[in-house]
Amino acid sequence: MAKHIFVTGGVVSSLGKGLTSASIGLLLERRGLKVRMQKFDPYINVDPGTMSPYQHGEVYVLDDGAETDLDLGHYERFTNAPLDRDCNYTTGKIYLSIIEKERRGEYRGKTVQVIPHVTDEIKACIRKLAVPDVDVVITEIGGTVGDIEAMPFFEAIRQFALDVGKANCLFIHLTLVPYLKAAGELKTKPTQHSVRELREIGIQPDVLICRTEREIPSDDIDKIALMCNLERRAVIEEIDREFSIYEVPLSLKGHKLDELIVERLNLKDAQALQMRDWVVMVERIKSHILEPNPARTVTIAVVGKYVKHRDAYKSVYESLDHAGIAHNVKIHLERIESEQIEEEGTDQLLASADGILVPGGFDKRGINGKVDAIRFAREGKIPFFGICLGLQCATIEFARNVLGLTDANSTEFDPTTPHPVVALLDAQRKVTHIGGTMRKGAYDCALTEGSHAAIAYHSLLVSERHRHRYEVNNDYREQLVKAGFAITGTSPDGGLVEVIEIPDHPWFLGVQCHPEFKSKPTAAHPLFRDFVGAAFTRKQTK
Ligand code: GLN
Repeated sequence: MAKHIFVTGGVVSSLGKGLTSASIGLLLERRGLKVRMQKFDPYINVDPGTMSPYQHGEVYVLDDGAETDLDLGHYERFTNAPLDRDCNYTTGKIYLSIIEKERRGEYRGKTVQVIPHVTDEIKACIRKLAVPDVDVVITEIGGTVGDIEAMPFFEAIRQFALDVGKANCLFIHLTLVPYLKAAGELKTKPTQHSVRELREIGIQPDVLICRTEREIPSDDIDKIALMCNLERRAVIEEIDREFSIYEVPLSLKGHKLDELIVERLNLKDAQALQMRDWVVMVERIKSHILEPNPARTVTIAVVGKYVKHRDAYKSVYESLDHAGIAHNVKIHLERIESEQIEEEGTDQLLASADGILVPGGFDKRGINGKVDAIRFAREGKIPFFGICLGLQCATIEFARNVLGLTDANSTEFDPTTPHPVVALLDAQRKVTHIGGTMRKGAYDCALTEGSHAAIAYHSLLVSERHRHRYEVNNDYREQLVKAGFAITGTSPDGGLVEVIEIPDHPWFLGVQCHPEFKSKPTAAHPLFRDFVGAAFTRKQTK
């Protein structure tokens, strides 16, 4: 029977519960256990798909097309746990399901209430992941204890422990131990209050993970343990990582968290911890920070719309770092607002770029700046990687500046353009998935032998995740190709453009998919790896 770990948070939000949950998943996997990961988000949107990246950061897409919280990206980068739409629930999604059941008459005349109906629904979502071959299900509760919206989730996990037996559940609570400059000391009181709040609703945490910017003195650990009714070794310090988020599992391992979990949950199949490759990877990151080497630093300009928000292109930035690790180089990121390019031009803003990346996005703001950046990359033979909207902008750029179709555009940005080189394709082709709805989730793509894409993947058939409405317009394919624009990847039936390249260029590649959702720190995505490789080569030969 699967065991359960519940990760909750207190004191403040943004403590890194997602990273901590992912790190716990990694440690258990590397003890030979099978884990599944899940997140509950207390907000009322049914999923983050409709939320602005400014509000919520990136929308993380899964193979089955589910649009999920970006913490699921951490889960996938840290673990091999399979993720699907059952791995992320919001209050909205839970209620939607309940209300649909109510409308179908499934509650047989009963009054539908938070307890038991909402809590039962939540518990059923947890149980869904506890399939026979799984050893541990890790469930993270978003928000903090005491939030009104989060209450049903806390109540549900309290009940869950009663249902499956306390011995099969572990409650891990993450808090903050702040340093007060004026007092010159760390404060444990917020942690005590947070645990008290948890106990008031019937949950005694089994493990406390205390986020802190300074080492917590031994006396303070004693105090927290005593006041919060915990064994001393179950109070674990998680100090702000100095170099990289990928250090978190190593720090938790240093405090023997994996041993504690294995012992408390009586995980008999656990083997010795195997972290060698992870340690090597972290050492590589550290070495570039401790001994900066300009000769091994590659500057990548990311030209986008949401660059001010750190999390809006989270997976893109992570994937670039993974590629840097693979080449043993440091990525120096220059995040450039595409509107700034419209105002100031490309020459100065992109002067130091060894590679230029245009990520995904929606809406026409800043499009011309992206097109200008792509022209700069194409003409200057600077390695270029376009992702989703980035591919669409590369197509627009080529049509405008090489084919001379000066008004070429996507119908997303100019519905009346005389040259809709990017458009909704339902009208002209028998493609079933389009027509205003998004193409979401995993789709196969057939690659052309010898292309940069095929070389990178080392395969002619790949699968990647999508999240977009518009496609390259097939009516313009012939013209584009004749002028030197290569279509090196299509849907297996040839009907949809998936990858474009410019052969007369060191590395110029655009993809309609989102490869950033499939990169890991110990296994960089092939396209990111080769893009950074090309940028590094350019730097060395400049
Ligand atoms: N806005 C474009 C579309 O809908 C691109 C989307 C994206 O980059 N994810 O097709």
